[in-house]
Amino acid sequence: MSHVRLSALDTAPWRRDAACAETDPELFFAVDEETVAQAKQVCAACPVRAACLETALRQHEMHGVWGGMAEGERRRLIRQRRREQRERRARAKQRQPSDAA
Ligand code: SF4
Repeated sequence: MSHVRLSALDTAPWRRDAACAETDPELFFAVDEETVAQAKQVCAACPVRAACLETALRQHEMHGVWGGMAEGERRRLIRQRRREQRERRARAKQRQPSDAA
């Protein structure tokens, strides 16, 4: 049986190698910490973890464990990436020669 939530997420080929393909999808949408930790353990051994995480971030998956991260962790990662992107842009802007010079 395939992983139901992945079929709804993306048709990317990486899904074939998902470690959760044979796992109960409910495990990945639990709210108690113990079950969330179990889901993360499955993700930790998953060969497509990075692709899964990036897909979830790109598609703004708000619920569940994806790519080894729970909702709050993904939100923090998104905020961190945005902050880093702003900082890179600011540094690049500072390096540009001034038009007034
Ligand atoms: S990283 Fe986790 S949620 Fe993503 S495909 Fe692998 S086991 Fe499933």
